Amino acid sequence: MVRYELMSRTYAPTLKEDPAEAELASHRLLLRAGMIRKTAAGLYSYLPFAWRSLMKIEKIIRQEMSEIGAQEMLVPMIVPGEIWQQSGRWDVYGPELLRLKDRHGRDFVVGPTHEETFVDLVMNELRSYKQLPITLYQIQDKFRDEMRPRFGLMRGREFIMKDGYSFDATVEGMQKSYEDEKAAYARICERCGLKALPVVADSGQIGGDTSVEFMALAESGEASLVWCDCGFAADTEAAKAGIAVTEGAEGELTRVHTPGIGSIADLAAFLGVPENGTRKALALVDGDKRPTVCFVPGDHELNEVKAEHAFGEYHLMTDEELQEYGLVKGFIGPIGLPENVRVCADISLKDSIWWLVGANEADYHLASACRGRDFEIPEWFDVVTAQEGDACPHCGKPLHTARGIEVSQVFQLGTKYSEAMGATFMAEDGTEKPFQMGCYGIGVSRTLAAIVEQHNDDKGIMFPVSVAPYEVEIVPLNVGDDLVWPAAQKLARLLGDYGLQVLVDDRDERAGVKFADADLYGMPYQVILGKRGVANEMAEVKCRATGEREDVPFDKLSSYLVEKIIPYRA
Ligand code: ATP
Ligand code: MG
Repeated sequence: MVRYELMSRTYAPTLKEDPAEAELASHRLLLRAGMIRKTAAGLYSYLPFAWRSLMKIEKIIRQEMSEIGAQEMLVPMIVPGEIWQQSGRWDVYGPELLRLKDRHGRDFVVGPTHEETFVDLVMNELRSYKQLPITLYQIQDKFRDEMRPRFGLMRGREFIMKDGYSFDATVEGMQKSYEDEKAAYARICERCGLKALPVVADSGQIGGDTSVEFMALAESGEASLVWCDCGFAADTEAAKAGIAVTEGAEGELTRVHTPGIGSIADLAAFLGVPENGTRKALALVDGDKRPTVCFVPGDHELNEVKAEHAFGEYHLMTDEELQEYGLVKGFIGPIGLPENVRVCADISLKDSIWWLVGANEADYHLASACRGRDFEIPEWFDVVTAQEGDACPHCGKPLHTARGIEVSQVFQLGTKYSEAMGATFMAEDGTEKPFQMGCYGIGVSRTLAAIVEQHNDDKGIMFPVSVAPYEVEIVPLNVGDDLVWPAAQKLARLLGDYGLQVLVDDRDERAGVKFADADLYGMPYQVILGKRGVANEMAEVKCRATGEREDVPFDKLSSYLVEKIIPYRA
């Protein structure tokens, strides 16, 4: 029986040079360590080392799911278009959805997520409240035709997801199922070695009301979040922060000559007012093709996700469109706008009366524009991105910002899908009611990328024990030596007998090459066997994460490593 693996027999082709296309550490290192290879944009093969890690991540997920009574199963990846039509998502899910037709011309989609399939599965057989609650999950490849697949496994088109769905009879029941999943997700992150924060999230395409994302904190993360010492944290796509704005001067409406000053920074400097004392006008075309001007505090930015909720499929006006609609770039204000323009503002300005705004005339602004006297704002939306220093919606203290990688998300869906698809059960009072649902997703392959993103240095990956492809790498420095190689084999067998997962670098390579590869692969413990050590029955054990080295006698090696490894295992 083989109790350890030989490097010469593994397929983990390393790259000497940094691949040019890889911006993120995880992307670069997973490629360099021979863990992933690209087939096409956003399509990756997981090579054996990556697969071993992924299996461990999945093992952790399975254990935590079984703790909360969720059951694993598997549905087809391909979904009949019909049920996507029933749910209404056929029409609203954009070009990320890969649609196909079979030979009979019937519509199908490659599942980007599987709410419809699970609702369709249970709706005719979960008939009574007595059969509820039920939580089902699967681990499966998903496909999303992302506009910009990038960063390796971080944003692929095909990726591995654990997706779960809970069915309850009551709102309270759904909330309990949701809380159980949320708690399990926190444990999964922790056991995978991820420093992650649960943040209030936007519920996006999936819909429903309440949602939390788990963000693995990383400077390179695509997501931005705000957090507060009081424990509040939210995705900036969802954060409703308190925004301080400075009032303009009170008095008569005054036309101010501001030659060539079309940017907020220039305007604030020119007039000696803080940026949040100005009102930025954003010109866009909303989802119904109406020209729209939205005012926001001068020091804040429009948030794309919030703006989509407010305006539908909007876009910011091009210079040509500004001209077409009679808007003066850099000098737009609420007074004297063309009639057909829809006017609105961010809710942070709702208490502000005195505004400094553009005059709708090149090179002029208006000071002391008074809301109610000089102009009205008919519509209000929450559309700006929360930023550093805005007030926490819970305690009012200043928020901090951070960046993160969204590794997982939980949603309370309520009856969104069950109602749309007519999925009901017999409630306790004898009436037919739609299921109360939750849905829960973990990006399994993205989790691997996030782990590498958080655990690396300039030499390579530093795998936490729980998710490492192997726990120990034995590095014999001279495999031709009559003492070293037999000792390596003997120790490998011994450690294998103790249940440790051991890789032996049996290649006839220089020490430097072996050290570099061992650091690149990032197995948590390296057992280095040199001629002199072996003669004294001593191994040098290096902890990859801390860099600490210790000389350990052969007869203590197994207990030494078992103690360090077993408690941290998946
Ligand atoms: P994002 O905002 O990053 O596009 P999402 O919110 O659309 O992700 P969900 O629908 O919440 O994604 O899917 C559940 C999980 O699947 C995400 O938390 C993430 O970990 C993973 N995931 C989503 N899209 C991708 C992708 N393109 N590549 C890899 N993992 C992904
Ligand atoms: Mg999400």
